[in-house]
Amino acid sequence: MASSYSLFLFTLFVCLSCHVIAFDPSPLQDFCVADKNSKVFVNGYACKDPDDVNPEDFLFSGLDKPGSIDPDLGSNVTIVDVHKLVGLNTLGLSVARLDLSPNGGLVPPHIHPRATEILTILQGTLYVGFVTSAPNYKLIAKVLNKGDVFVFPIGLIHFQYNIGRVPVVAFVGLSSQNPGVIPVAKTIFGSNPPISDDALAKTFKLDKDTIDRLQSEFWMATN
Ligand code: MN
Repeated sequence: MASSYSLFLFTLFVCLSCHVIAFDPSPLQDFCVADKNSKVFVNGYACKDPDDVNPEDFLFSGLDKPGSIDPDLGSNVTIVDVHKLVGLNTLGLSVARLDLSPNGGLVPPHIHPRATEILTILQGTLYVGFVTSAPNYKLIAKVLNKGDVFVFPIGLIHFQYNIGRVPVVAFVGLSSQNPGVIPVAKTIFGSNPPISDDALAKTFKLDKDTIDRLQSEFWMATN
């Protein structure tokens, strides 16, 4: 009886811990502008002396302009996270602008390990989706138009694909100051050093020559 109660308490503790670490922690002060030069390592950046903080620490300019489109993918993601906007430190969110070329601009399948993403279309027609985890692997997808808002839950593989004849402009909010990105293709085939080609051949039911060719490709950071 005592041991089942201990197990219950342990399970509860694990569940609560998961809940707490699944999102950025709440701040304990008005702000904690990132001190990128600090040698103190905490979960995020150490705080700059509040007396040295200035309005520019809370400002990023330039999201009105499209990013530089990658010619192979036909897309660009300009993320404004804590690395570019130091005032975001400890606040648990960031923003990005997405630009996708007409007729096939693609943000390939990827994961944000630390953030849910909410996307708003300002212009164009975008096919988006995410896939649920095991055991269902259900594709949840929609064609979005101007004014539509779509949400991609934290940790799931998702993509954005321009199926229209005009450029897509979209803005996303992300529920972390440092959402991170795991591009599926680059992570699998572009790791350094490479994953064993035997293992990948078996994984993808491909021959080793095909795996070697994929591993020799140049993969964009967003691929
Ligand atoms: Mn994303």
